Amino acid sequence: MGAAARLVDSLAHQHAGGRWLATGGGGYDVYRVVPRAWAHVWLAANHAPVPAETPAAWRDRWAEDARRYGQSPMPDGFDDPCSVIEEDNDVYQCVQIGDRVYYTEAAASALGFAVALAWFFGIYGILQGLKGVTPGKALLGVRTVDEQGGTPGIGKALGRSVLWIVDGIPYCFPLVAVITGFSTKGHRRVGDMAAKTFVVGKDDAGRPVTV
Ligand SMILES: [Zn+2]
Repeated sequence: MGAAARLVDSLAHQHAGGRWLATGGGGYDVYRVVPRAWAHVWLAANHAPVPAETPAAWRDRWAEDARRYGQSPMPDGFDDPCSVIEEDNDVYQCVQIGDRVYYTEAAASALGFAVALAWFFGIYGILQGLKGVTPGKALLGVRTVDEQGGTPGIGKALGRSVLWIVDGIPYCFPLVAVITGFSTKGHRRVGDMAAKTFVVGKDDAGRPVTV
């Protein structure tokens, strides 16, 4: 918020002779957010530095009210730790839980993404494509097969897996997969229909699929 207000002020000096008008709206988080947000606006407009801490007297004055209304109290700092960290580092994600701050640097998250992608290709593409199994399917005694009952190959295996993008809708629960699984011949989800694959019991693998 402080950075945003300072940006507005610098733009105002570039284009409007330093004049700017601030208006407010919303009543969210009135003890934690509103006073600090407006303090940032006021400090930016006055070209004043942001103090290291919010005033202790103010925190004490309103702490009880915040508790009574089930709201968060005013924090010690004008900026939340995550916004400070994000300003100074190449940060991908930052969360604050209680007094602790957890963040991922962009480089580390790129590595994590590469590992996840390799895992996806390895398990869902190569293992499922060449052997017809994933760890879950091996556990449940089922196999992914093509129409002839053979292993599907890497292309079809990847295709049916990528299509979880459709089958997974609306993502809190794989509704599309469940509906198509129950309503189609052969109980196939969209990924199976598109890739021409079937999931069969392991004893049925190896012979052509009849539905
Ligand atoms: Zn100014």
